[in-house]
Amino acid sequence: MTLSRGSHYLAIPGPSVIPDEVLRAMHRPAPNIYTGELHEIVDTIIPDLKRVAMTSGDVAIYICNGHGAWEAALSNVFSRGDSALALATGHFAHGWANVAEQLGIAVERLDFGRRAAIDLDKVEAALRADVDHRLKAVMCVQVDTATSVRNDIRGLRAVLDRVGHPALLMVDCIACLGVDELRMDDWGVDVMVTGSQKGLMTPPGLGFVYFNGRADAARDGADLATAYWDWRPRVNAERFYQYFCGTAPTHHLYGLRAALDLIHDEGMEAVWYRHAALARAIWAALDAWGAEGPLEMNLSDPAIRSHGVTAIRIGKENGARLRDWVSEHAGVTLGIGLGMASDEDPAADGYFRIGHMGHVNAQMVLGALGSIDTGLKALGIPHGHGALEAATAVLARA
Ligand SMILES: *Cc1c(COP(=O)(O)O)cnc(C)c1O
Repeated sequence: MTLSRGSHYLAIPGPSVIPDEVLRAMHRPAPNIYTGELHEIVDTIIPDLKRVAMTSGDVAIYICNGHGAWEAALSNVFSRGDSALALATGHFAHGWANVAEQLGIAVERLDFGRRAAIDLDKVEAALRADVDHRLKAVMCVQVDTATSVRNDIRGLRAVLDRVGHPALLMVDCIACLGVDELRMDDWGVDVMVTGSQKGLMTPPGLGFVYFNGRADAARDGADLATAYWDWRPRVNAERFYQYFCGTAPTHHLYGLRAALDLIHDEGMEAVWYRHAALARAIWAALDAWGAEGPLEMNLSDPAIRSHGVTAIRIGKENGARLRDWVSEHAGVTLGIGLGMASDEDPAADGYFRIGHMGHVNAQMVLGALGSIDTGLKALGIPHGHGALEAATAVLARA
């Protein structure tokens, strides 16, 4: 006997739920790659991708996941031996910095821990100390998917400008493009990387690197650029195969086309608003549960929380149990605690994450919250009451 039959909600922070429209668009025979519809689709995808990031710069499309997009971005900007400053607020900034180091880039790291955003004053001090402008780029993650920290990218640009430092601003928006507000041009982001499988609601397999003219000028001297990762042929393709350095990712392109239709039919501001409202409902439930017992959001300050993923501490003996219970009995898969290992909790069992990015609405979020509430009761994990009431009150006001 189980209560889990029915639509499953993969409530993890990527891959995210794939809309039926995207699935239907992908369910087709192999298309003609030489001419026709596929070529027309790419001509419309590129401007629509730029609209999601609010940029008039370029975007190169790669057949890869986020890690590939990381390497693509780095190899077009740096030469072996160059220096960069990495600002870490969790697992993913370190991941990107590690890739940079493996490419031979000298990375200086500022680590702000797992429960705080980037401290702009500390960044300013580091940039001022770099008097001969050795640092070629500042690398950071807008939303760290492990800690759920959301950083102030506009503020970071203001610091670079105030110091008068010419470093490129490179931002990982893999977890937040199409979720949280991003205005690439207004905010002065020079390079932005993202992937298909989170806010863009398409299966994993496409990586995107957005860049402006300043970043492209750095490409001139970048000796790490290789044939596959070189962004120039991909944005100045004279032949269709050059967009993808080979065979096009045919079905992903159909899926992405459908996803971009969903995003732009809704409108960017409405997309951001929906995610913010759903996030506030989740936080209200968590506040109520946390009033008694071990549940606690990783971040106490709502101003630095992601609107697409929420990391929660629940005690080492409870996290894995709760995740297993809601998956087995309620049809909801929650995210594991990523990058949260410690001496006391080496497997990060004391954490779980709720993914609420992309194709998510009120009933899905309320279903996930109701399932967690049920799991807490079934497992006897102490918790405060009124979580669902609190969440529905937030949504009723939204
Ligand atoms: C998911 C994610 C990545 C890694 O993407 P993969 O597709 O798993 O390689 C990198 N950075 C952030 C912020 C992410 O959320």
